[in-house]
Amino acid sequence: MRDRIVAGNWKMNNDFNETEKLLDQLKSYPEPSDVKIMIAPSFTQLYQSVQLLKSTNISVVAQNMGIAPSGAYTGEVSPKMLKGIGVNTVIIGHSERRDIFKEDDNFLTKKIKIAIESDLKVIFCFGEKLEDRVLKNHFEIVANQLKVALLNLSYKNIMKIILAYEPVWAIGTGETASAAQAQEMHSYIRNIISSYFDSKVADKVPILYGGSVKPSNAKEIFSESDVDGGLIGGASLNAEDFMNIANSF
Ligand code: PEP
Repeated sequence: MRDRIVAGNWKMNNDFNETEKLLDQLKSYPEPSDVKIMIAPSFTQLYQSVQLLKSTNISVVAQNMGIAPSGAYTGEVSPKMLKGIGVNTVIIGHSERRDIFKEDDNFLTKKIKIAIESDLKVIFCFGEKLEDRVLKNHFEIVANQLKVALLNLSYKNIMKIILAYEPVWAIGTGETASAAQAQEMHSYIRNIISSYFDSKVADKVPILYGGSVKPSNAKEIFSESDVDGGLIGGASLNAEDFMNIANSF
């Protein structure tokens, strides 16, 4: 069986005190035994979160990472720094990084390479914009974005990748892809993985859906056969909602 994963992307939310409060609340809920729970706080809260979650199975993920092992990159955080505090997974390619910070495919290819070489797992995000879907270009866009993540990976390293299909029009908008739309795209993505590797590999790579997942829609979306969980933004800032989503399989 593929890993089931629910990952919370806190974005630029939760300072020191708020992190302590939210993690205390999260820890008061029983953890589902068959779901991997992850949270992605800001850089400044990573070490604190790793320490506070030591007694749990919840893992701590970085929202971003610099593009070199070390060096003159003012304001950046290296993979080694992440690993050194117990962070073993990083989100790469989130639509906000692509749109606001202009991270393009070239840049993301480098980032994935550095992450993998540094033995970090990667949650790679991609997904079409509204205009792509309206023009019915969404499959082509997704195939091109996926190339970045898959092209130079070995059979061993593809196992370090978790994919997160996040249609941009559904992120933070309250709009969600229907379960059928999510399944249609996830199945397409799995076929692409199969074409780069083989069906056995494709069967193992987790594909998460992201875009306004809430307790009220998670069950329906997660019930689809190629949806292996979710990357959750807004709803991950509320412990009850987030744990309800984690219990929606
Ligand atoms: C996200 O930013 O990855 C996301 C899915 O956000 P939201 O759940 O708020 O739409």
